[in-house]
Amino acid sequence: MWMDSRRPKATRRHVVRGFAAAAASFAFPCPSFAQSAARVIVIGGGFGGTSCARALRKIDSKLQVTLVEPNRIFTACPFSNEVIAGLRDISAQQFGYEKTAADGVTVIAQAAAKVDPQARTVGLADGTSLPYDRLVLAPGIDMRFDSLEGYDEATAEKMPHAWKAGAQTVLLRRQIEAMEDGGVVALAVPATPYRCPPAPYERASLIAHYLKTKKPRSKVLILDAKDTIPQQQLFEHAWKTFYPGIIERIALSQGGRLVSVDTSTGTLVTEFGNYNPQVANVIPPQKAGNIAKLAGAADNTGWCPIDPATFGSKLVPNIHVIGDAIIGGSVPKSASAAHAEGKVCAAMVASLIAGKPPASPTFEGICYNTVSPGYAFFMSGSYHPRDELFAEIVGSSFTSPLNGHGLDEVRKREADQAQSWFKTITVETFG
Ligand code: FAD
Repeated sequence: MWMDSRRPKATRRHVVRGFAAAAASFAFPCPSFAQSAARVIVIGGGFGGTSCARALRKIDSKLQVTLVEPNRIFTACPFSNEVIAGLRDISAQQFGYEKTAADGVTVIAQAAAKVDPQARTVGLADGTSLPYDRLVLAPGIDMRFDSLEGYDEATAEKMPHAWKAGAQTVLLRRQIEAMEDGGVVALAVPATPYRCPPAPYERASLIAHYLKTKKPRSKVLILDAKDTIPQQQLFEHAWKTFYPGIIERIALSQGGRLVSVDTSTGTLVTEFGNYNPQVANVIPPQKAGNIAKLAGAADNTGWCPIDPATFGSKLVPNIHVIGDAIIGGSVPKSASAAHAEGKVCAAMVASLIAGKPPASPTFEGICYNTVSPGYAFFMSGSYHPRDELFAEIVGSSFTSPLNGHGLDEVRKREADQAQSWFKTITVETFG
């Protein structure tokens, strides 16, 4: 069912590889309401929230599941770096909620404006209030516009972050397209934690590919608030092979951390010096989507601490948090993990509602990085609760080889697998 509560009449309109069935040792509640009447609201219709809402209905079709999401069309971040590099159209990133509604989820095309955990209600942007028995927060990220001097929402229209896909992605693409040959595209990368740690370096690679082929005198400059980066050897090897002299990275210890911006002069000020690139892609520090703070589920880090055994908020009862919004261990903020968490959390919530012990969660995340068309590498790992956090299961992590025979074929195969991964996860989530 698709619902727009502004019009009262309803109109038609990476990867769980299984979770272990070991019973959790903690006490679990008896069903406190008739199962048929249990109401679950999910806030946020991205990879985590949509997966969770649909899985809840599949597990128990009696549950009343409502998905609150302001956008009628979701625009996915994975592969959006290809849009920026001119290799893909933004429309290939966009997905609707028709299948979610067809599964019996009530989809409300509005933003959640507040949460009252005592009354167990979600207030919508139009003033309507929805009651819940359990609430799942999956709002992704928001930018910390107060953390970088000179950088705010208006500035982001001149120096796009493109860290939420959509208009920002297209804006950055247009700026790079309009840049004259010989220009510099600068990417400012924050310290962790932030959404998808390897994605800035994939982005730098694909922009370099575009410049090499269309504007060969141009350069990519990475201003980094970190010293080490994910899959560093693989990236650096690929940059030497494909983009010698095109990509330069200034690490934290070399003064690469961005401290302020001045849009009137187009200046990026780092700890080392000032830069005036032709295009500035400023990725600011981040936090859980604002609604998490309003619900009381985010702590002073800006992220949401959870009990990994249930995804339950450590700060607010009857609220679960999934996806990029959580802190709690080594799980990377990725679509793959958010999708997996959505499914696992659905099983937890359904068990708690039914008064059964939830299974102990185990899930896998995988991340591909495409550095040139037909050339990609990956990393993956599996996670489980340990010492109140999610920890990587020892021996579960895999990464593409750095050296060896037939590497070109391996990279080509991994580039093909990346395309298949995106197709699978978007079909499973939205299709
Ligand atoms: P999202 O998918 O962002 O969904 C959050 C949703 O909540 C949004 O639809 C938003 O509109 C909604 N929302 C927010 N506030 C409210 C509110 N108040 N009321 C209602 N709804 C609200 N991950 C990978 O696994 N592989 C990749 O290759 C990959 N590549 C990436 C490349 C880039 C450039 C970037 C930026 C990210 C990439 N990611 C990748 C990371 C991935 O996009 C995120 O980790 C993933 O989207 C997180 O899912 P989520 O459900 O937590 O948040």
